[in-house]
Amino acid sequence: MNKEELVEELKKIEIEINETQQKQLDVYADFLIEYNKQTNLTAIKEKKDIYLKHFYDSLVLNRYIKSNQKILDIGTGAGFPGCVLALFNPETQFILLDSNNKKIKFLEELIQKLNLKNVELIQARAEDYVKNNLEKFDLVTSRAVAELRILSELSLPALKIGGLFLPLKANITEELEASKETIEILGGHLETVDKYLLPFEKSQRSILIIKHIKESSPIYPRSYDKILKKPLKNSYK
Ligand code: SAM
Repeated sequence: MNKEELVEELKKIEIEINETQQKQLDVYADFLIEYNKQTNLTAIKEKKDIYLKHFYDSLVLNRYIKSNQKILDIGTGAGFPGCVLALFNPETQFILLDSNNKKIKFLEELIQKLNLKNVELIQARAEDYVKNNLEKFDLVTSRAVAELRILSELSLPALKIGGLFLPLKANITEELEASKETIEILGGHLETVDKYLLPFEKSQRSILIIKHIKESSPIYPRSYDKILKKPLKNSYK
């Protein structure tokens, strides 16, 4: 997907992209390609793939974002989806979190280049950060970070009541079935699954819309070790 095709495809999902945003995405893609030659940030190296698999795929979440929200992107990597969404939502505050120092360093330079004022970068483990930031966020996003049961324990406690957890997933059916109990224990409710096909290659993607309807117990998130060894089920309530 090139720049013109991105503009066209975004129009189809009702996202307007202005000249400045187009230029900013171009700077983002070029900087990512250059940086990736020395420091491994992403397996996606071609500009056309960055436009499709990173930019377009991040922007499908745009419809869920409102002004003046506070959004946490867990395991943001090189800024997907959080940094791309920040470009399109200057009135919304984005906290981009990753445990990997190399990725945070890249993002520090990137947000300077793009002059982004609505982004805060945090280098931390999500389980530690969320434990100290319970019920602070309107939305939590996350792509390609962990299995849904694990991700739910990292994400739902960070949300205000009424806030939305919006993980981006590929094929979700089995993973979702295995996670229903975990989501319920954490005070979440699956509202809907928004399925779409990535343009051109037509691969299946899903956005889960999970609402935080009840307080999570303050014992969550547990240590990562425990989350992995004993994914939440009713017997561990
Ligand atoms: N979200 C980005 C994307 O879609 O391109 C990056 C995905 S990358 C496969 C997973 C990222 O999650 C890595 O950068 C890793 O450091 C981060 N990560 C995994 N577990 C984490 C945790 N518990 N806390 C913080 N970051 C974590």
